[in-house]
Amino acid sequence: MKVVDLSGKTALITGGSSGLGLAIAREFVICGASVCILARDGSRVAAAVDQLSQIGPQKVIGYACDITDQKQTAEVMRQATRATGAFDILVNNAGSSYRRNVDELTTDDMIADMDLKVFANMRLVQACLPHMREQRWGRIINIVSIGGKVPGGGSAPTALSRSSGITWTKVLATELAPDGILVNALCIGKIKSGQWERRYEASQKTQSYDDFLAPTAATIPLGRLGESVELANVACFLASDLASYVTGVALNVDGGLCPVT
Ligand code: NDP
Repeated sequence: MKVVDLSGKTALITGGSSGLGLAIAREFVICGASVCILARDGSRVAAAVDQLSQIGPQKVIGYACDITDQKQTAEVMRQATRATGAFDILVNNAGSSYRRNVDELTTDDMIADMDLKVFANMRLVQACLPHMREQRWGRIINIVSIGGKVPGGGSAPTALSRSSGITWTKVLATELAPDGILVNALCIGKIKSGQWERRYEASQKTQSYDDFLAPTAATIPLGRLGESVELANVACFLASDLASYVTGVALNVDGGLCPVT
């Protein structure tokens, strides 16, 4: 039995068609929330909606939407709000792992990474704010990475956008606290998802998936990569009334990997 109760709440989850976003959507529905997912690939969105709809009676909808496309996103938000009512919970999860060495960086690539991970987030927050403000209750959860706290070489695009995501979280938390809107970030270490499966697929596949992950697992104090449900459980808590005094936190969900709290 789930102790977290999200019944009566409606959540918008970007990148909810696969990996961590889908796991968060699944646990939200299990906890009683209605959900709307956004991602670019319409067939994966449809498959995810189908899967989520079988969990419970709540409304589950999804749209094929590139959240970096402002016009498309504005139209989808209009449709989604008509279909589900306004959003109480926003999870900004859509993203990718974009790494380049300094010599290879271009301004356009850097802007594109910021656009997906920070500016699109900003526009969705702005779209969700009027309803959250009116009801004086809202939850915004930004999925970022421990690389935003402890960047490694070759990680400039993603490290800059993720550290901006942490700063953005703190700014929002301070600004929106008087409105009863709580804003937190989850800093991911290494959690099994589509990203890791794609890396395995791109490898020679001369070993099992678990063996492929083993060297990475060995670097993590808990000795393994996280499961997507372990992130989703934390997101459920932050989205709920149980977390009513938690805002402005950038919480590591990383098995102890990040040396910075
Ligand atoms: P996946 O690649 O499995 O999922 C990413 C999701 O985002 C997909 O649903 C994808 O769908 C969607 N997406 C990507 N770009 C856009 C876009 N422009 N508009 C709308 N949707 C988009 O990755 P994970 O589940 O692993 O990652 C989830 C988040 O966690 C990401 O932000 C990632 O960077 C972050 N993260 C993950 C880590 C891990 O270990 N798994 C480590 C650090 C950070 P589609 O392609 O159809 O648009």
